[in-house]
Amino acid sequence: MTGAVTDTMDRPLRDLRISLTDRCNFRCAYCMPKALFGANHAFMPRSELLTFEEITRVAGVFTGLGVRKLRLTGGEPLIRRDIEDLVAMLAGVDGVEDISLTTNASLLTLDKARALKAAGLNRITVSLDGIDDATFQAMNDVGFPVAKVLEGIANAERAGLAPIKINMVVQRGINDHDIVPMAEHFRGTPHIVRFIEYMDVGNSNGWRLDQVLPSREVVERVGAHWPIEPVARNYRGEVAERYRYTDGAGEIGMISSVTQPFCGDCSRARLSAEGKLFTCLFASAGHDIRDRLRAGASDESLTEYLQGIWSRRADRYSELRTHETKPVDTRKIEMSYIGG
Ligand code: SAM
Ligand code: SF4
Ligand code: SF4
Repeated sequence: MTGAVTDTMDRPLRDLRISLTDRCNFRCAYCMPKALFGANHAFMPRSELLTFEEITRVAGVFTGLGVRKLRLTGGEPLIRRDIEDLVAMLAGVDGVEDISLTTNASLLTLDKARALKAAGLNRITVSLDGIDDATFQAMNDVGFPVAKVLEGIANAERAGLAPIKINMVVQRGINDHDIVPMAEHFRGTPHIVRFIEYMDVGNSNGWRLDQVLPSREVVERVGAHWPIEPVARNYRGEVAERYRYTDGAGEIGMISSVTQPFCGDCSRARLSAEGKLFTCLFASAGHDIRDRLRAGASDESLTEYLQGIWSRRADRYSELRTHETKPVDTRKIEMSYIGG
């Protein structure tokens, strides 16, 4: 594997990912393995979580620094009660142009989807790691059926949340047999399946390089069934490489964080549910914002604090991993904590 080491300076701050909870009703082994996230796991107490008012205030400071897109994530964000109220508050923040949500769709009823849309949610990304029920149920490890996720997707579509993206984390030997069936299922719909290389996020999933199926193999496998061609990126920093079926049956995407890292274009800040700011998905420590908020910091001092953090940022973990082709040895935060 190759990968140029890019200049880490001069990366604009455009996106803010906001994690609303570290809890989830699934136990995907690549994210929250049951053995480590069982009954004895200490999740964040409610009092530690940022309130909706605090999140909205932080979002306002970030838009002052250039952020235009917000994504709500988790853990499972729909576990957070009245999330649509937060969406409405965020939609009223000056400078916010786009609000999206990443979810496993297990709690996405039609009423919920409509409430989110009415509150100002623009788009939704649904995670679905297989279209074969046995494979998917084994992966979510709580026996959740594919049909219920498809129902959630249909609800999102009826509510007008579009385009819908469907994330499939591909693990060699676990669900790679489902790549072509997954593509087939969503061909001919407006939904965009994105095949994601399995990443070494956190310390609990036991990641090994040989479990990663490179995106180029996904392209070959899908392309062998239906001709596809690359499509230009929508904007600088778009993480998915886009492909379309040449017969007009829609679009798919590849997210190749392992084999083709994109640190040089990384314009994303991540806010944990307890108010810590991370400038990289693979960081081991965050910068505390909650204590400053609760100590009465002004917007000006928060702006200065955040600007300082972003301007000193030198993250390029995925590039370093590519050069090493093994996980770089650090204590990293978990995906369920920071939300992808
Ligand atoms: N629970 C929600 C969901 O699954 O969509 C939101 C949070 S989840 C952490 C966000 C995204 O991260 C999901 O699409 C999930 O598949 C992806 N993800 C989690 N662990 C991953 C890993 N080790 N490698 C690649 N993607 C991962
Ligand atoms: Fe939950 Fe999403 Fe992690 Fe699966 S990937 S365990 S649904 S947070
Ligand atoms: Fe951004 Fe860190 Fe991922 Fe590189 S490894 S793309 S800096 S989050």
